[in-house]
Amino acid sequence: MTYATDFRPLPPPDKSPAEHLRRRTPAVFRGVAAHWPAVSTWTLPYIASLDPSLPVRLVRGNRENTPTAFTRSELGTYLHHLSEPPRADGDLLYLKEFDLLRQFPALRDDLKDIPFLPRGAVTSNSVWIGPARARTGLHQDLLDNCAVQIAGTKRFLLARPGVVERAGALSAKYDTWARLSRVGIEELLADRGTVTDDEDFFSVELEPGDVLYVPARWWHEVVNLDASILLSGFFGSRAHVARLWTQVGLRDTLHRARLLNPRDCTCHPARR
Ligand SMILES: [Zn+2]
Repeated sequence: MTYATDFRPLPPPDKSPAEHLRRRTPAVFRGVAAHWPAVSTWTLPYIASLDPSLPVRLVRGNRENTPTAFTRSELGTYLHHLSEPPRADGDLLYLKEFDLLRQFPALRDDLKDIPFLPRGAVTSNSVWIGPARARTGLHQDLLDNCAVQIAGTKRFLLARPGVVERAGALSAKYDTWARLSRVGIEELLADRGTVTDDEDFFSVELEPGDVLYVPARWWHEVVNLDASILLSGFFGSRAHVARLWTQVGLRDTLHRARLLNPRDCTCHPARR
């Protein structure tokens, strides 16, 4: 077992944000969103108060490398449960990829632009709200992401593109906009010296107002250090997103027609 302390801290940005984005190197931009109204006003009780009876679908446990399972709840009940002390036993429930802005369009006023996103970029925002210790297993996204920490603290463990592939650990499990690893990042780090080395792994902790740039194809595993709210901002040029959309749409059509990985995916419950 290894611990986050074995990971090298992600170095502070050594280039302008735009240059990091151009060269596709991850970086954390501290406090870039600290002045956003969302960071001061989006508390768990506040979000719960917007529509306590709104039905929500929660992910049970780490669906990236355990069988996918969901449970239903209501926004108010779930967020109230998050503010209680975490239980040591049982699966953690996680509200993932929640389209908060579509549910409550007025909340858009609480966000500001990220100043260094390329002009004309298409962005897709969703929100991740979960308890301490909730984890998203090791995966790479197909699109670049500028994730904004809104509340609480989150740890990102990052590995360079190619690390999971070289270790022969790509998962066959289907995910619409990501590729998954069969093993966790700590396992990969423990095996360094053969196909990976220390230079391949980084760790960074996000505090409210921090913006983390995770380039597409960088592997990452994410764990909440306390109950937290994160706004993901996947982005890309119009042409790039359109091209990906076509490929992703085709795979997804096959998946939903049960011709590609039926029931071995992050979007449907695993067969029992
Ligand atoms: Zn599915």
